[in-house]
Amino acid sequence: MFISLNKKILYSILVFLFLITGLFFIIFINFYARNLQDRQNSLYLRNQYVVDLLYDNISLQKQLAQIYEKNPEISPVSRVNTVSQGINLTQKELSREQKLNAELQKNYNNNREALKVGAEILGFSLFIVILFIFLLIFMLDYWVIRPIEKLIEISRKVSLGIFSSRINIEKGRFQDEFDILYSAFNKMLDNTEYNIEETKARESFLQKLIDAIPDGIRVIDREYNVIMANTAFHNMLKLKKSCVGQKCYRAYNHSCEGCLQRQYACPIKELLQNSGDVSEHFHTIHEVGKRPLYLNATRLQWRNTPDDVYIVEAFHDLSNDIKFSHQQKISSLAFLSTSIAHEIKNNLGAIRMIFEGLLSSYYKDIPDTDDQKKYLLMAYNQLVETIKTPERLLRLVQYSENEETEIDIENTVKDILLMIDYEAKRHGISVKTQLEHNLKFKGNDADFKMIILNLTQNAIKAMPNGGNLILSTYMKNNNIFLDVKDTGTGISPDKLKHIFEPFYSANDSAKSSGLGLAIVSSLVEKMSGRITVKSKPDKGSTFTIRIPFGKNEKKRR
Ligand code: ADP
Repeated sequence: MFISLNKKILYSILVFLFLITGLFFIIFINFYARNLQDRQNSLYLRNQYVVDLLYDNISLQKQLAQIYEKNPEISPVSRVNTVSQGINLTQKELSREQKLNAELQKNYNNNREALKVGAEILGFSLFIVILFIFLLIFMLDYWVIRPIEKLIEISRKVSLGIFSSRINIEKGRFQDEFDILYSAFNKMLDNTEYNIEETKARESFLQKLIDAIPDGIRVIDREYNVIMANTAFHNMLKLKKSCVGQKCYRAYNHSCEGCLQRQYACPIKELLQNSGDVSEHFHTIHEVGKRPLYLNATRLQWRNTPDDVYIVEAFHDLSNDIKFSHQQKISSLAFLSTSIAHEIKNNLGAIRMIFEGLLSSYYKDIPDTDDQKKYLLMAYNQLVETIKTPERLLRLVQYSENEETEIDIENTVKDILLMIDYEAKRHGISVKTQLEHNLKFKGNDADFKMIILNLTQNAIKAMPNGGNLILSTYMKNNNIFLDVKDTGTGISPDKLKHIFEPFYSANDSAKSSGLGLAIVSSLVEKMSGRITVKSKPDKGSTFTIRIPFGKNEKKRR
């Protein structure tokens, strides 16, 4: 049975009004009975007063009779008449008043009885009223308050983001507008939950889609919040994923004074603040942690409202491209130079053999002090040195042949120092070492020697007027470090950027090929290591090689 809520409320109000009217009626009766009782009381009191007066009158008459008795000169007839008349009159009056008094007494008793009954009715009515009030409260609670509380409860859950709860629609009770509201509310929750699930699924698809892109992507709103970013972006900037959605201004701070790399223009500033004046795209190159990143920022506006503007940044890591171009340069260089190097080495080798033949036969018994033999020896030594250049070039090709052995760093460094000892002494350079003992790793011995030789030779070249050359090796954070430090000419910052590039040489001399550091850097990378340099003009340079210490290798002490 359906009873409309309006009717329910109307009936409740009618009942309430009825009860209030009854209450007023009872109060009125009560008030009237009290008035009646007061009036009765006052009449009774007045009558009592009259009776008292009459008694006073009788006693006065009696006193008068006594006066007459004492004064015989008053005529007996008039005396008797006066007194008896007075007495009769008074007694008549007295009996009438007594009757009236009895009547009043009776009335009073009746009224008291009526009042008692009235009080009982009043008490009963009050009881009924309270009962009805409770009934009314129960009805209001059952029909209106509880359904509203149900709605409030569910709304609270929805506001907390719990969309899975529903309102339970009871079957046994009379249906009303609340039940229609409940079904509508439940349906609305069904739709909302479905939409949220759908949105989450789309968001996750979108996230996976942008995660699949190898370039770093991030979307920034006009408040500089990163609202979306892909895995490549996090990896490039070494950010934690939880950073997204919060205010993390890694690249630009809020005022956009702002970009961490101040030398670059901030795309947000360019694209948001000057919107309209500039093109929709912005290109720049950022250097993040020594890695050159190509940034292409685009303005995205999808609902045509001024606030609905986003910046989509795409970061492309250029280091791989640069490495690739280096490798390409080196491999084409290796390819071109191999044949030349072979040619030169073979020819020079043949000449060296001739020299050796001459020295071991014709000049065998001639003392070294002999001028001819001295010049021949000088030419021979120079030839041996010259042969090293094509050999170095040939190593560039050979290093790709992977032949790994256990390298004892201390011994290898000492071997190389023996090789450069003469050259160092010739230039007045003091060579010092701080080598950790028994530091070993798996790698290509020839490559490692090549690295140390190149770095030490460069250091010697940088100290033509003498200085200090210090070689140190140590372990730190599971990495092997080799420092080659000199107190030579140093390298200016503008040259420092290019020294690892093939064919780059700061020296104009014909001896400089500009290949040494390019080869060193390639060999270090081949060992999964890194080479860094710190240098100050006229103070000296330190080249540091870091080689990760492999899992299978153990440092033996
Ligand atoms: P090359 O020595 O043949 O010029 P490298 O690739 O070995 O080629 O070195 C590139 C340039 O780096 C050198 O020309 C030199 O100017 C600079 N360089 C390398 N090592 C040092 C050093 N220890 N001190 C100063 N300059 C150096």
